[in-house]
Amino acid sequence: MDLRDETISILAPGGVISRRLPGYEDRPQQIEMAEAVAEAFCQGEHLVVEAGTGVGKSFAYLIPAILFATEAKEPVVVSTNTISLQEQLIDKDIPFLRETLPLDFTAVLVKGRGNYVCLRRLNMVATSERGLFETRDEVEEFDRILEWSKITSDGSLADLLPNPPESIWSMICSESDNCLSSKCEFFGRCFYYRARGKVLGADIIVVNHHLLLSDYVLRKMNIGVAVLPDYQHLIIDEAHNLESIATAHIGREVTNWRVKRLLDGLYRPPRRSGHPGGVLVRMGAVEHIPLVEEARRSAEIFFDLLSKWLDENETMAIEREGFLPNLLEEPILKLEELLRDLRKRAKDESEEMEITAFIRRCHKLRDDLDDILSLGTEGYVYWVERTGRRFANLSLNAAPITVADELREDFFSNMRTIVATSATLAVNGSFDFFKGRVGLENARELLI
Ligand code: SF4
Repeated sequence: MDLRDETISILAPGGVISRRLPGYEDRPQQIEMAEAVAEAFCQGEHLVVEAGTGVGKSFAYLIPAILFATEAKEPVVVSTNTISLQEQLIDKDIPFLRETLPLDFTAVLVKGRGNYVCLRRLNMVATSERGLFETRDEVEEFDRILEWSKITSDGSLADLLPNPPESIWSMICSESDNCLSSKCEFFGRCFYYRARGKVLGADIIVVNHHLLLSDYVLRKMNIGVAVLPDYQHLIIDEAHNLESIATAHIGREVTNWRVKRLLDGLYRPPRRSGHPGGVLVRMGAVEHIPLVEEARRSAEIFFDLLSKWLDENETMAIEREGFLPNLLEEPILKLEELLRDLRKRAKDESEEMEITAFIRRCHKLRDDLDDILSLGTEGYVYWVERTGRRFANLSLNAAPITVADELREDFFSNMRTIVATSATLAVNGSFDFFKGRVGLENARELLI
């Protein structure tokens, strides 16, 4: 039996699903969709499907995907937009299919790297940066995380309730550019790598669109830190959200908080507790602190000018190259050069890795800011935005007018199978708008 026939025999009346599913209803539209998905896997096709709610889309793509992945021994990535759909797949649909289908398969949910605690960073804060916490609440919160890290089974935020504040979690979460991987003394216990190990060899890999796109961007940067294993078969559910998420990931953003985080990571002045922190303090390179403070002053002036330029508006388009002087280029470049020197006297690999991460961040910040202030990329739109009232977040942004070219040429062209589906893809019965916006112009269509 081929994949198409096998899929139909499982879903059709009298098949294993009908025998096991309480309240089973014959759904010809579900079978029609499943048949088209099976065909896409067999032929190596790109397919867009609009199917209304109630059709049973998830079984219509999961069953052929599982049959294909186990037979071809190639993973299929399933990407969703919402947590509720991820939970439905992982907690309901996939366990049901595992009990029902006459074959063994593995399925994993992959979370973004920043969801996992990094034991090395946690240990570093516990041993030398504990004094950074300003309030008793922060100290207690950190102690709670420290205790939790000894008993948690997966080390991810989902297991740490209530979630800690961003300001603490960002000091101890796993980061791609600040990880020693197999050279790390905590590697054997590392939660992120344990989770990643389960992904290798899985038949079905469930992710969200953010992870899908950040994995794509990491692959493009080619620095060997992609989250997902190599794959060529992709199902995109809730595909109507893909364009906006791709736009955010492919674009650039410089915010006052990003600059502050970078500078605080290098040197954080003592607060009420009286303890300074940051890489320079840990390395005993305190004579270079004035360089960080100089950059901090420049950043304050720069974002102040930006705020005045924005006036009372929340968003304004940048239409003129050099609309603001780039006051950060020089001080951040000086820091980058300093870090290159300091790296030569790093005491161990862990310190060297951390400094390298800061060099990359300085470099990327300069690169992003230069591009935005010079309106440097053709086909991009540029704007400034203010969000939040009490702690205003000022951001300079650049995003492609369309993500279609990039997705088509750099991402989708590497996929043998793509199934993009949602209850709302077509406009007046036509997929042209959706296909044109995301670069799937040549995909076969099915509207049911
Ligand atoms: S291997 Fe990387 S993520 Fe894991 S504990 Fe070490 S530094 Fe952190």
